[in-house]
Amino acid sequence: MTDENQVVEASVRSNVKKNRIVVGDKVDIEPNDYSQGKYIITKLLPRNSYILRPTIANLDILLMVIAPKPQPDLYLIDKLYIHCVLNNIEPVLVINKADIADDDFVKDIQDQYYFIKTFVISAKNKSNIAELSDYISNKLCALSGQSAVGKSSILNALMPHLDLSTQDLSRKIERGKHTTRVNEIFVDNDLMIADTPGFTSLELDLKYDELSDYYPEFEIDESCRYLDCSHIKEGRDCAIIASVDSGKINVNRYSRYVELYNKLKEKWEKMYD
Ligand code: GDP
Ligand code: ZN
Repeated sequence: MTDENQVVEASVRSNVKKNRIVVGDKVDIEPNDYSQGKYIITKLLPRNSYILRPTIANLDILLMVIAPKPQPDLYLIDKLYIHCVLNNIEPVLVINKADIADDDFVKDIQDQYYFIKTFVISAKNKSNIAELSDYISNKLCALSGQSAVGKSSILNALMPHLDLSTQDLSRKIERGKHTTRVNEIFVDNDLMIADTPGFTSLELDLKYDELSDYYPEFEIDESCRYLDCSHIKEGRDCAIIASVDSGKINVNRYSRYVELYNKLKEKWEKMYD
């Protein structure tokens, strides 16, 4: 697609490695002198972000969708957030199905994720769709989250001109857990949303002892006394555990931190011991 939003056909000049170009890449093009109306890719431009699973370049925003139903998998949200930070992608939390969500549910989620930009929307009755649309305009986005949280419905609400039924979209988006393919980027006016799988089978590329760096709520004033503290063991003078006990740090976020820490540690030890 050109800067003028025109979709054009292009071949690849031999000095550009063809198999390095992935969905989302930005390239320079020139008119192809030998083939009227067609172009040649002359240069692969530097990427702002790149992830392998699914393979996509220049993703700006990952919309992490949850809803009151199905029961939210917040462990997945914790991991998606870290995945975004590690890969220079902005995480945005979308609480969908506001029409059936009670206030306590929304408040609890907002408490746990106070450090993430959050939209409370309903794809069904279109509430706050315009606000979300404004926020993601001119950014390359993707939808992530469990099956049935409403990813396809949100895509349809954001892009009403899109010519696909929710069912088709669901099938496309949930193409199976292990698919890494991105087939296309849906474009509608200023919006660009990649057709990605739900990012549900996520392996974090992170060593366990770095995990705590990705918990903004751990950056409390009275920093932990032990520089090498993993904030896991009771009995040490750990400022994080004290803050969990006093309610300053959300206990559910903390419990999931411990779970993820143990998972990463186990994985690390399997690989290197
Ligand atoms: P996906 O699997 O994440 O793509 O989810 P879908 O878009 O297929 O939606 C799953 C179910 O949730 C469908 O039955 C939708 O009609 C329903 N749904 C989606 N958005 C909303 C919403 O805002 N409110 C309510 N009440 N239901 C919704
Ligand atoms: Zn500690």
